[in-house]
Amino acid sequence: MGNEIKTHVLVVGSGPGGYVAAIRAGQLGLDTIIVESERLGGTCLIRGCIPSKAMIHVATKFEGMKHAAAGNPLGISLSAPPLLDLAKTVAWKETIVDKLNGGVAALLKRAKAKSVAGWATFSDAKTCTIAGAGEPMTIHAEHVILANGSLPVELPNLPFGGDVLSSTEALSLTQIPKRLVVVGGGYIGLELGIAFAKLGAAVTVVEALDRILPIYDDQLTEPVRKWLAAAGVAVHLGARAAGFVDKRLLVDKGGERIEIPADKVLVTVGRRPNTKGWGLEKMAVDMAGPFVKVDDQCRTSMKNVWAIGDLVGEPMLAHKASAQGEMVAEIIAGKKRRFAPVAIPAVCFTEPEIVAVGLSPAEAKTAGLDVVTGVFPFSANGRALSMEAGADGGFVRIVARRDNGRVLGVQAVGAHVSDLSGEFVHALEMGAVLDDIAGTIHAHPTLSEAFHESALRALGHAIHI
Ligand code: FAD
Ligand code: NAD
Repeated sequence: MGNEIKTHVLVVGSGPGGYVAAIRAGQLGLDTIIVESERLGGTCLIRGCIPSKAMIHVATKFEGMKHAAAGNPLGISLSAPPLLDLAKTVAWKETIVDKLNGGVAALLKRAKAKSVAGWATFSDAKTCTIAGAGEPMTIHAEHVILANGSLPVELPNLPFGGDVLSSTEALSLTQIPKRLVVVGGGYIGLELGIAFAKLGAAVTVVEALDRILPIYDDQLTEPVRKWLAAAGVAVHLGARAAGFVDKRLLVDKGGERIEIPADKVLVTVGRRPNTKGWGLEKMAVDMAGPFVKVDDQCRTSMKNVWAIGDLVGEPMLAHKASAQGEMVAEIIAGKKRRFAPVAIPAVCFTEPEIVAVGLSPAEAKTAGLDVVTGVFPFSANGRALSMEAGADGGFVRIVARRDNGRVLGVQAVGAHVSDLSGEFVHALEMGAVLDDIAGTIHAHPTLSEAFHESALRALGHAIHI
């Protein structure tokens, strides 16, 4: 490539938004370049979704072995408690990251999308220079897809550095902190906080609101709250961190200042769109608060400049970014597409896991809808019992219109429920009514039978409860 190149499609950022957009554009025969300043895969593959789930997996295995060492009704016993070499764990996690990183590179190559390493800085809406290891390069594009992603929010009184960690550093620790305080009891704080608790850290959660995981309703978060209490994880609600001095986190709670001893502090108070330092202001695109403003085709206010993923707003989820990326590539190639999903599933990989798709009963009520709900507990599901997944308070809940049975939402909490999210969202996208779920034969013994039974229960004739 020379120093000045032209392309039909330029994608900035190779997270699940950008790399999917570039692969699809390449598949559709569009001349495509993707620019990435770090490793291919973005937040999700390199320092987010996948590495966190790998660590959660290890933590759950380790905890299971600890239980076995302490005596276990399954008949498994260990003569000594298990030992953990976190440096080895992190190295194993990195092998998965490496595999996915290489996989993205290979998929881009196969789709004939060119990958350029370096930081893109725009001088106008369709022109950017790339500063990387090689000579600076200027790219002129007919279409630009912005997929610059997001960054962790930093608290002014608790800047990242030293013992104050973002999720990125937390995923690469080589020793378990004795005392870990997590500031922010949302997705990352609880997924990683629970993992560290399983791995042996004494974990405390400091949350500003009056409940943990505020995006889910109380009924769904109750089993997680119970797990935290049983595991000895202290949770301070209505509490805000005010600073970190001499290994003590200063916290304002209910008008009082308390101090919590901490070896490490993990700050997980949200993520912000990555809008600074790459010339966005030169592109003359409208903003929607901190996000880049887009319409239902992910068009910005500037012609042929598109934006996707975390950069354009909530939900900041990988699968939303990918769906938008795929759509934009297809629109550029001439297909008629619109981003109008019936629902975007949300899954939280806590202990136990939570899934939410569509409307909760309260949200349906707020929307003025008259609904029926059906709840089926995993304590009455044979497969859950056979996997020790029936005693954590988990259940599946279905929400449907009273008049015609149209399913409006499905939520679940319990071990392994993340894998049910596909069936839930599929039901909503296909416009299922309760009778469709009730009339579908679900394999036995599986957790999915609880979904079937929730529909039967909403219809008034559950079998196993
Ligand atoms: P990103 O993945 O953030 O990628 C943006 C990329 O753009 C980055 O690689 C960045 O280096 C690059 N970039 C930015 N500006 C430039 C520039 N000027 N030049 C060159 N390159 C640039 N979501 C889920 O759905 N499920 C999960 O389980 C989940 N777990 C998570 C766990 C953690 C710890 C974190 C932090 C996030 C998690 N997320 C999860 C959120 C998910 O990672 C994001 O929603 C997703 O990565 C957003 O994708 P994106 O393509 O918009 O941006
Ligand atoms: P979050 O929005 O999920 O949670 C942030 C929490 O911090 C909230 O509960 C908020 O009330 C609290 N908070 C805010 N300011 C505070 C303060 N000063 N003191 C104490 N608490 C405070 O954010 P996150 O956990 O950082 O995750 C960022 C995003 O990444 C998520 O919103 C989600 O989109 C994505 N993510 C998704 C998954 C998943 O899909 N399983 C996993 C991890 C991250």
